[in-house]
Amino acid sequence: MTKATLGFGAMRLPLTDDDNQASIDMEEFTQMVDYFMEQGFNYFDTSYAYHDETSEGALKKALVERYPRESYQIANKIPTWLLSKEEDNDKYVDIMLERLGIEYFDVLLIHNINKALINKAEGANSFEYIKKAKETGKALKIGISFHEKEELLEEVFQKYGDVIDVALIQLNYMDWTDQRIQSKKIHKICVKYGVEIQVMEPIKGGTLLNVTDDVKMQFDDYSDNSIADLALRFAASQENVTVVLSGMGNLEQMKENCETFRNFERITPEDHKFLMKMAREIKKTWAIDCSFCNYCLKDCEMNIPIPDFFNLYNSEKQYHLPSNIDLYNTAANVYAPASACSECGTCVDICTQQLDIPVLLKDVAELFGR
Ligand code: SF4
Ligand code: SF4
Repeated sequence: MTKATLGFGAMRLPLTDDDNQASIDMEEFTQMVDYFMEQGFNYFDTSYAYHDETSEGALKKALVERYPRESYQIANKIPTWLLSKEEDNDKYVDIMLERLGIEYFDVLLIHNINKALINKAEGANSFEYIKKAKETGKALKIGISFHEKEELLEEVFQKYGDVIDVALIQLNYMDWTDQRIQSKKIHKICVKYGVEIQVMEPIKGGTLLNVTDDVKMQFDDYSDNSIADLALRFAASQENVTVVLSGMGNLEQMKENCETFRNFERITPEDHKFLMKMAREIKKTWAIDCSFCNYCLKDCEMNIPIPDFFNLYNSEKQYHLPSNIDLYNTAANVYAPASACSECGTCVDICTQQLDIPVLLKDVAELFGR
């Protein structure tokens, strides 16, 4: 089985001003890059969009201008949501190469393939584009980052399996059997098609570290290894996983993450069982007991992504993350906000958990402001 390495995800870099995503703390970031390279790691992941489009420029200064090109690998992602015609692929890829100051990508991905954005990617012929990018040497490997359910992934691989080398997927012990994220099912499909897997959100954006005291105690009783160590090892132990990206926000986190991969040990069946138990315990602390079965989605006349909103509500109640608000607003723009509920009641009869969905959606609308 391939041994996975740690990748430096340049999407949660240290900032000088917490309210300004473009204010990357270059001094700390440069120290982190140097430490990462010294420790024998060399994989960096960025995108056109991260840090209000400044992540690539920061990598250019801290990495590209200071290290020989062959000493590191860079993955970057085409901003799918900005594509409206075929020529846009080239336009954005040229900007991405220029911002980074490099001639080629080690990995070029079509960013955020989901139900809505697959149409954009296909409309702009992006799969054909990345294939040509590989043939002409603009990218050594190509693929997608994926945020949807198993049916869409199966469909994408059936159509473009011969093109895709790499899939960047969300995989962590909390989402392993989650009905919405479906890490286990998504992972299985990637393995079936022989696609190399890179992992994002192995610690669920840091949320798996902010557990209740009771859960923390159970982790302490179980092992001397930290919660982050177990979460990273869970992701890295799965078949076909080659890179686990961690959005390390400071040098301390980086040191801990590097340590895990320097002395890497796969999780044992006992660890797996324990982590599944912890996932259940953590879920118990969530505010809305939705099972994410999606039954309610079929007949909602307002097209409200009900389970996704309940998941974000739970996460926000527990962790208060700015990313929850961003995710809520994105979903509300693509589909409809919780406040659009007409209280028709159709979903109430369908809900497998017998939740009073219209009432709960009012709480969601209040929490997220729309
Ligand atoms: S009550 Fe609201 S959420 Fe439920 S089906 Fe009707 S519009 Fe959709
Ligand atoms: S039917 Fe109920 S339990 Fe299932 S996803 Fe919808 S709200 Fe959640």
